[in-house]
Amino acid sequence: MYNPATGQRTAEVTLATEAEVADAVRVASAAATDWSRTSLARRVGLMFRLRELVSGHQSELAALITREHGKVRSDALGEVARGLECVEFACGIPTLLRGEYSAEASGGIDVHTVARPLGVVAGITPFNFPVMVPLWMLANAVACGNTFVLKPSEKDPSASLLLAELVARGLPEGVVNVLQGDAPAVTGLLEHPDVAAVSFVGSTPVARHIYEAGTRAGKRVQALGGAKNHMVVLPDADLGAAANAAINAGYGSAGERCMAISVVVAVGSVADPLVDAIAARIPDVVIGPGDQEASMMGPLITAEHRDRVRSYVAGAAGGGATVVVDGSRPPAAAVASGGGDTGGFFLGCSLVDQVRPGMRVYDDEIFGPVLAVVRVDSYDEAVALVNANPYGNGVALFTRDGGAARQFQRDIQVGMVGINVPIPVPVAWHSFGGWKASLFGDSPIYGPEGIRFYTRPQVVTSRWPDPTPEAIDLGFPMNR
Ligand code: NAD
Repeated sequence: MYNPATGQRTAEVTLATEAEVADAVRVASAAATDWSRTSLARRVGLMFRLRELVSGHQSELAALITREHGKVRSDALGEVARGLECVEFACGIPTLLRGEYSAEASGGIDVHTVARPLGVVAGITPFNFPVMVPLWMLANAVACGNTFVLKPSEKDPSASLLLAELVARGLPEGVVNVLQGDAPAVTGLLEHPDVAAVSFVGSTPVARHIYEAGTRAGKRVQALGGAKNHMVVLPDADLGAAANAAINAGYGSAGERCMAISVVVAVGSVADPLVDAIAARIPDVVIGPGDQEASMMGPLITAEHRDRVRSYVAGAAGGGATVVVDGSRPPAAAVASGGGDTGGFFLGCSLVDQVRPGMRVYDDEIFGPVLAVVRVDSYDEAVALVNANPYGNGVALFTRDGGAARQFQRDIQVGMVGINVPIPVPVAWHSFGGWKASLFGDSPIYGPEGIRFYTRPQVVTSRWPDPTPEAIDLGFPMNR
């Protein structure tokens, strides 16, 4: 494991063996019955306690994120805050699980539906949100009465250990368990007969594999994958606001967000001034270690990933695009402040114009600070481009025209839509999920969909003895 701002090796992660996976599931299974029978009133109290614990340690959690992921402190604090929202949502679990009741559904018969927990559920999370994504899952999973095994990314695992410590102070033993590991640990969870459901967030090829393997093993699976998010800018848009949004959403967190904007779609006459406005702002982005106050963009996660991102910029001109700003060489000051010439995994911001589908820089999820600009002639062409993309995570439209915005919402085949909002991550009481290759399975994550995912309905039809004498009747029960 590295500190990406210095390139120094900081720690080693011991990867779980098969026996340790089995142990974690055994502990979670042993806690499952008692936890599922714990009253809602008590569960709410414990969720409020967890909320206080996470809230009281935001600063330490953010520091761990910055040290291992590299993102700047304000971004890390934002991540923790968005994770905390999910714990707050889960504090409302009595209302969320209230169920349904039909009195006198048939003569003397009442019917009610209860949402029952699944048992042991597993969560597998990516490197880019080491606190928020685990909280997307675990808050609802345990509030619904399940026990949870978290397998965080092996690239930045320390924040999950602090989360585990906080959970241990708030919740009974075995309700939340953290297992460090990589692909074999995931396979162990997918194949374990006592794991009822799996939530996964990560890249599309792995998400597809998790969905297929998990469902083959008879589990309920939600697998959120990668993205290629477009920001469509109509000619009437506020140019300054659109350029700022492209910078913030394209280069924030060094482009390592699944909701990052990676393609700006410039419609008609807006293209030249928009490209100029974005290029003019790039020198203002201060790149440096995430723990320095002035830094706006930190390093990438590993040297290997930095080199992969750089290869897209290097190859863009050969593919027919125009490299307007080449960030392959990060500013010298960033490199020096990160620990000298051999140090951190920094890159500058890149802007590539005249991009088209079929070019690598357009087709692949780059997951780095590279903004591609595709020029189109019309609104219809912009919509067709976005809808033809295999991913469908997020999209944004920038315009001053309410009618066009309303039309766009109906035309666009993407799960999360921002209107003059470049990163439309839904609040915790709505649910998060893309379409197409950005989500495998039926269920988006957190919010009301999260509650549905972590429970199954049980319908009880009941009749209590009453003075009416019963006769023998072998016919199929009919409602009367
Ligand atoms: P990744 O797919 O490499 O890893 C995600 C998790 O899967 C990690 O815990 C990892 O240990 C595990 N894993 C990796 N390879 C595996 C394999 N072959 N079999 C089983 N498990 C395996 O993703 P990452 O690089 O950590 O994260 C970045 C990716 O995640 C990007 O593609 C990004 O778009 C995506 N992401 C998506 C969302 C979303 O909500 N849709 C959110 C955050 C990140």
